[in-house]
Amino acid sequence: MPKKALITGLTGQDGSYLAELLLSKGYQVYGLVRRSSSGNISRISHLSGNVQILSGDLLDQCSLMDAIAASQPDEIYNLASQSYVPLSWTQPSLTAEYTALGVSRLLESIRRCKSDAKFYQASSSEVFGQPDESPQTERTAFRPRNPYGVAKAYAHWMTINYRQQYNLYACCGITYTHESPRRGAEFVFRKITRAAAMIKLGLAQELKLGNLDARRDWCYAQDAVYAMWMMLQHEQPDDYIIASGETHSVRELVECAFNCVGLNWQDYVSVDPAFYRPDEPVQLVGCIDKIQTQLGWKPHSTFNRLVELMVDYDLKELSNSKA
Ligand code: NAP
Repeated sequence: MPKKALITGLTGQDGSYLAELLLSKGYQVYGLVRRSSSGNISRISHLSGNVQILSGDLLDQCSLMDAIAASQPDEIYNLASQSYVPLSWTQPSLTAEYTALGVSRLLESIRRCKSDAKFYQASSSEVFGQPDESPQTERTAFRPRNPYGVAKAYAHWMTINYRQQYNLYACCGITYTHESPRRGAEFVFRKITRAAAMIKLGLAQELKLGNLDARRDWCYAQDAVYAMWMMLQHEQPDDYIIASGETHSVRELVECAFNCVGLNWQDYVSVDPAFYRPDEPVQLVGCIDKIQTQLGWKPHSTFNRLVELMVDYDLKELSNSKA
């Protein structure tokens, strides 16, 4: 019998890569998808016929229970969330409903309908906010600084509480920023790779950015979803940092992206005070010792390789739409 997995957030960046990974491992994959009038399936259209779509929403407990009852999953990956930090300031209540209470509803549904299923919760490095130490470990105190981080911290602790109280196999992966050609264009990494490709093709003339010295821990989404799967294969449920373990500046990213298209970034990039954020006093960077030692996971894609991959993708996609 093939293993069965239920993925929430199937239509998102990580959900689509995780579905591919699980299908390649012989899983029967189910995806929870909320209704949208425009049918938001661009990231999963190539999987049609291979993944069974179940209609549901983190806001609706019954739909979660129905999805679990229908799929009888061995593993449940909760990747659904309102995932954009700036929006969490303009829609804090909705962010809490999706990202915090949605996880309560899901945990309660698992407890009632399939308490032997293994559960993965997508935590975020935003729970650390302004951390006391760098790099951060699984023991670093949470000091979230935005409604998204607060909601993720709630979801994180609820997952641990359900593990302790009800003996569920429930784990949190604290992921740092991870990118891919399927990343939304509003995120800085994609904004830069896309702008470099657009300028190369004559579709844009300039790129305005904030603090070029800001540093981030970026890794490849395919590496991150592999870590999620590995976590649920472990004998004991536990929480792990999923990160590259190194930081790069926005300046390095810009330089690398423009190099990929053979342009000098200084001719096109300017700093716009409207986007400017001061340097973080303590770097947000993950310590990956625990996941490396206990699960043998480490990221495969390097920073430069990731930039090249995304610029190439953007160049091809934009050239096709231009043609
Ligand atoms: P994403 O591309 O924004 O995808 C989010 C997914 O959640 C989409 O499939 C979306 O569906 C779904 N969703 C949103 N609200 C929902 C609701 N009420 N009910 C059901 N589904 C809902 O996010 P991602 O980049 O794949 O990230 C996956 C998870 O990791 C998220 O929980 C995110 O917060 C977390 N995370 C991501 C990063 C990162 O760098 N990517 C870093 C740390 C943590 P629609 O398509 O219908 O909108």
